[in-house]
Amino acid sequence: MKVHEYLEVDKNMKCFCVKCGHVFCGVDDNYKKYCKRAELTGDDYGVKVYLHDHMFVRYIEYYCPGCYTLLSQEQAPAGHEPVPDFKYNPKDLKNFMNRRT
Ligand SMILES: [Zn+2]
Repeated sequence: MKVHEYLEVDKNMKCFCVKCGHVFCGVDDNYKKYCKRAELTGDDYGVKVYLHDHMFVRYIEYYCPGCYTLLSQEQAPAGHEPVPDFKYNPKDLKNFMNRRT
């Protein structure tokens, strides 16, 4: 079942990349914790782009470690845990998926 543009859930309730098959984690975990990540500054966007980097917010991109597809971007305070895009109870999701087939 598709849960994200590039992520699907298999019958074992594991989240994986649809482009390369890399398995991230269970659906009750945050896949971003297992991504490659890049922290961006205003300079990364262009010389005239001013971001509040180095102040209180970080601009972070999350990539699949298997194929480096960009999966997500977010702005968060420094040191903040990655913000989950989704989180499911595995038992409830499995029941939902079984009803659909
Ligand atoms: Zn991938």
